[in-house]
This record gives sequence, C-alpha cells and structure tokens, in this order.
Amino acid sequence: MIQQSASNASLGRGFGGPGKYVQAPGALRALGEYLNAYGPTTFILIDRFIDDLMGAELRESLAKAGVTAHFELFGGECSAEEIDRAVTAAKNAGGHSVVGIGGGKTMDTAKVVAVDLKLPMIIAPTVASTDAPCSAIAVRYTSAGVLDTGLFLMRNPDLVLVDSAVVAAAPPRYLISGIGDAFSTWFEARSNLEARCDNFIGHRHPPTAAGIAIAQKCHEILLRDGLSARQAVERGALTPAVEAIIEANTLLSGLGFENCGVSAAHGISDALTELDAAHAYLHGEKVAFGVLCMLVLEGRPHEEFVEAAEFLKSVGLPTRLEDVGLIDASDADLDLVAEVALKAGASTLRTSVPLSTQMVRDAIIAADANSSALGHGPAWRGGKS
Ligand SMILES: [Zn+2]
Repeated sequence: MIQQSASNASLGRGFGGPGKYVQAPGALRALGEYLNAYGPTTFILIDRFIDDLMGAELRESLAKAGVTAHFELFGGECSAEEIDRAVTAAKNAGGHSVVGIGGGKTMDTAKVVAVDLKLPMIIAPTVASTDAPCSAIAVRYTSAGVLDTGLFLMRNPDLVLVDSAVVAAAPPRYLISGIGDAFSTWFEARSNLEARCDNFIGHRHPPTAAGIAIAQKCHEILLRDGLSARQAVERGALTPAVEAIIEANTLLSGLGFENCGVSAAHGISDALTELDAAHAYLHGEKVAFGVLCMLVLEGRPHEEFVEAAEFLKSVGLPTRLEDVGLIDASDADLDLVAEVALKAGASTLRTSVPLSTQMVRDAIIAADANSSALGHGPAWRGGKS
C-alpha cells in the first residue's frame, strides 16, 4: 500500500501530524464550535449510518454555532470517481472547510477533497479500527473495491475530532482491529530505524526523536491497556483504558507510522489480500498476524515472539493462518503472498535483513507453527491445491 523511498542518508529529520487532536465523549456535539474557527460555512462528507444516528444532533450543534453546513452522503468507496463527485459537490457547496465523518474511506475521500480545494481539513473518525485518521495519506481503491494506490497528500488534517463515546459504542471488532494495526507501529519503527529508511513526512526524512518516542509509547499503552479496553467495549463500557486505547490506535499509532515508517508486517498483510479467503478480515487483523511473521523474518528472540503472540491472542487478534481464513492455503498460495510482499515498492523491503521469496514464505509458515505450538489452535495444513 505504502510507496517507499530508499534512505537518502541525510542528517536532517522530519516530523508531521494533525494541527490539533481532540478526543472526548460527546466531542462531536461541539463540532459547530470547532468548525466556526475555520469560517461560517462548511462541507461535510458523512457516512449514511452516522447521519442517521446523529445527523440531527450535528445539525443542532452547527446551527447553535452559526455554521451553515452542506451535508453530502459518502458514496461507499474512496475511488477516483467518488473523489471527483465529492470535489464537484464541495465546489458547488462553497464551504470554508471540508469535514469527513465516518469510517476510513469516508475520511480518506474528505482528505483528498480538502487538499484539492486547498481548504482546512477536519476529520472525525467514528471507529478506531486503523491509524489512518491523523495521517496525510489516503488509500484509493477502484470502484470495484480493489486497492489502487496510496496517495501522499503533503498536508495532514487541521483537526482530528474523536468522539470516544461513539467509537466505544461501535462493534468491538473495530477497536480490536485498531489494536492490531497499532501493535505493528513500534516493531515497524524499529525495523525502519535499523534499515535507516526515511519516514513518510513531506519529501521523506529520517525520523525525529519525537516520532520514535511516540511509537514506543504506543506499544507500552497497548500492552498495558489492550485487554482491559477489549473487555470494557465488549460490555458497552467507556473506561480510562478504552480512552487510552482509542488514543493509541488513532493518535500514537498514526504519528508513529507516519513519522517512522511501516515495514514487513504491513508488507505481508497487504500481500495476504491476494488471497480471497483473507478478504473477510479487517486491515488490523491481518496486520496483527503480519507482525508475528515479521518477528520471525527478522530473526527476533523467541521470547519476543511469545510475548507478542500471547498479547494478540489475549485481545482476540489473529496469530495463525487459520485466524485470517488461510488454514487451507496451498503452497502456491503462500508463494504468491511472498512474491507480492517483495514486489517493487512493497513495505517488506524496509527491513534490514536479507530477503527472498522463500524467506518470507518460511517466516509465514514458522509464525503460524510457533503460535500453534503455544496452544492457539491447529497449524497451517499446507500442501498443493
Ligand atoms: Zn495499517
């Protein structure tokens, strides 16, 4: 997904992130007040589900703050066609800012519209399933839903507004998937540091100490609060642990990956999408298994693998091929995944270890076997198809 650059061996450094990040229960009720700072009119791209759920509340908040808004329902896919449609709608509406409220694709489309129209960009995620909201990256798909390209926008959101009550009330699978995406952040930052790869800021730079510290903190909070947060959201409770995990998934992981880079966990997880059986799984779920594959690929101590696998298992994330629908994948399937994981531009190449198709394939098989040996369930069956 992410295009990479080779290290430029520069002594410089770069850091980027959103202009402002606000996370609180009920934060969306203050949307009008926040938007007023950018001008009296706004264009809002919103998921139909969220508009149905809280459209009346949002309109009331805007009216109270004296902001006139044009609401546009998101068409369902962040495709070139939908981006064009939204840009035209926003131009016609003529607002002073562009807002995206909803899931990842809605937010990404709103980001592109805001950059295209050179307007302030306000992002309000209603789930914490990935670390995309704070970043300057949008992922474009074809109208058929196939991954097209990652767009590097040169501008991060001006404001990210997270209503933690809305996020905590979403199906728990989303927050758990976000933990999987966030769990890759520190391991992939370390991988990029060792490989001396540049980050994703502006024209690409080595990371700052701030970026590295944020990636480390992200990891610490996941281990501390991940399980407690899962148990809370499964019972519809909003606790300090849930707030901490929403921040880790959204802000810390977002800043961490953008400022330090992604690596083989994303490279392998992106490649798993070549296999239809993996399509039923969310991004962060596949990335979770990708982390374990990366630890094997990079030859990390087994204790580190065990700690990671046990954590992922405890929060309900995949640790084996079966957990991402691939227990019956053939030898040829895994060869294909390994090949795609190493194609030009793949994130896997941002590691400092020697790489070959066989090494990637064997890392996948060994990660699966290691987790199975920990009692997580049956290992990949293997064989020809
Ligand atoms: Zn990710």
